Amino acid sequence: MRVSHNPSLKSFSTFGVPATAGRMITLETEEDLLSLPPFNPVQDLILGGGSNVLFVSDVPGTVFHNRLEGKQILETRDGHAWVEAGAGENWHGLVRWTLDQGLSGLENLSLIPGLAGAAPIQNIGAYGVELADVLETVTAWDLERNHWVSFTLAQCELSYRNSVFKSGKPDRYLICSMRLRLDTKFTAKLGYAGLSDELSRAGAAAPSALDVSDAVIRLRQRRLPDPAVSGNAGSFFKNPVLDRDRAESLTSRFPQLPAWPLGENAVKVSAAWMIEHCGFKGRRAGPAGVSDRHALVLVNHGSASGKQIFQLAVQIQTAIYSTFGVLLEPEPRIVDFKGELDE
Ligand code: NAP
Repeated sequence: MRVSHNPSLKSFSTFGVPATAGRMITLETEEDLLSLPPFNPVQDLILGGGSNVLFVSDVPGTVFHNRLEGKQILETRDGHAWVEAGAGENWHGLVRWTLDQGLSGLENLSLIPGLAGAAPIQNIGAYGVELADVLETVTAWDLERNHWVSFTLAQCELSYRNSVFKSGKPDRYLICSMRLRLDTKFTAKLGYAGLSDELSRAGAAAPSALDVSDAVIRLRQRRLPDPAVSGNAGSFFKNPVLDRDRAESLTSRFPQLPAWPLGENAVKVSAAWMIEHCGFKGRRAGPAGVSDRHALVLVNHGSASGKQIFQLAVQIQTAIYSTFGVLLEPEPRIVDFKGELDE
């Protein structure tokens, strides 16, 4: 366990906005859990790779920085392999490692920034695959009761970019590891037009899992701004999921609005299209802005504060609400211990 006092958090979130913490405890082994100080949700925070967080205020107490690493194949049987991964593993590194082992299932989720521990919190998803498709169990440390807990897939309550870890008490469970069920025999999941087009362009008629991963990497690199160049947290808003009647009345008013049915009665509509329609793509508000490559991505052009980025997000929400009557919900966690947003 490493402890530092008054650290800057600027390099601990991919938005790269200024913030500090009273203290940071970096967890490196499971034994470290046994000597943790009590967690106080009013002033403390659990942090992984910082790829899905916006610091609007400082963290007055302690940041528990989760770097519990480790990955291994536990068992291979009947066309599947069970892999265990520590929460502190780099997600993309884990994806590529599984491919190197001849395992598939994670290739569509290549190049998602952040650490593995964030994957179940957010139920990360891309190109038609989400973590829920491969997750079996999550092992976490219960910070309220100081003991280990194991969650089955059902207990994780994964839904679109959501889980029990996000919607319940967000800091009660410190995710330590997860168990994934991957495949030893590859079946391509190419339902997203952009992905199959990219593979066709590359001439991959019968793509391998590695081809799919490489195609996803190329697509993401073209489409999404690099956080090392302009700070960002990927998509800032979720795609709204509406009931069918509401979605139909919206698409009759805006026939070009992309919409995808989700089961019988729900329809997912494109937040990026709505934001672009309202003229925000590429727009700047001082050092905060909307990416000119992807309307869902808010960016820090260099010196933006978390509050400036959040204020731009509110402007977007207001415009979308008055045009479409839809409230966009932020995807990242907004950290505001000091009520900065209430001022
Ligand atoms: P895209 O393929 O043009 O997708 C744009 C949006 O349309 C996505 O948000 C996606 O929804 C939706 N979509 C496209 N094809 C769909 C289909 N066949 N069925 C259902 N929904 C469909 O390009 P993109 O915006 O770069 O996104 C590509 C993938 O990367 C998407 O899966 C997206 O979620 C993911 N991504 C995630 C983040 C993040 O930070 N969370 C950032 C960028 C991209 P879904 O988002 O529901 O998939």
